[in-house]
Amino acid sequence: MKIICIGRNYAAHAAELGNAVPENPVVFCKPDSAIIQRGNPFVIPAFTSDVHYELELVFRINRLGKHIQQSFAPRYYNEVTLGIDFTARDVQDELKKKGLPWERAKAFDGSAFVSEKFFETDSLPSPILFSLKKNGVTVQEGDSSHMIHSIDKLIENVSEVFTLKIGDLIFTGTPAGVGPVVSGDSLEGFLFDEKVFSLRIK
Ligand code: MG
Repeated sequence: MKIICIGRNYAAHAAELGNAVPENPVVFCKPDSAIIQRGNPFVIPAFTSDVHYELELVFRINRLGKHIQQSFAPRYYNEVTLGIDFTARDVQDELKKKGLPWERAKAFDGSAFVSEKFFETDSLPSPILFSLKKNGVTVQEGDSSHMIHSIDKLIENVSEVFTLKIGDLIFTGTPAGVGPVVSGDSLEGFLFDEKVFSLRIK
């Protein structure tokens, strides 16, 4: 199982980090060891002093495919949930300055939180609205219609490069409002008005 992540897929988030909106999706991967095991908290790694949450819609691939056209992409997934792309922002800023890959900042153990509860995509209204509360205060609000590249376009784009396999996850980018977490924080994710997860930070 692999985790494919998209960067800068919401214009407002690209702007808040001072990044240009890319013509092609920004793509990076996390290994399966990045996933937080069921029931565990997110543990802030020792090598960073500025870890950010990034709430994202996460789609699960349910069919093997390569070179998938956008119009056929809906045949390759039928479930979505919320996840958090934890990012060591200080480490990422250093890597970006040097033009180096982002894995040390984005792919470490625990950097991928995925809610246990998935939703049939057909069962959800469109656009999908989602939000994150930190310590009870709403910090991010997302609307899937604001994605620069839709999930179908992303599947076309990434399947040119990667064979998609059953169980692969696609993190589709974060809306504006990213920010730091510290030990003791709690995060809660909502799809529409339904609470989908809560996660402790240690
Ligand atoms: Mg992200």
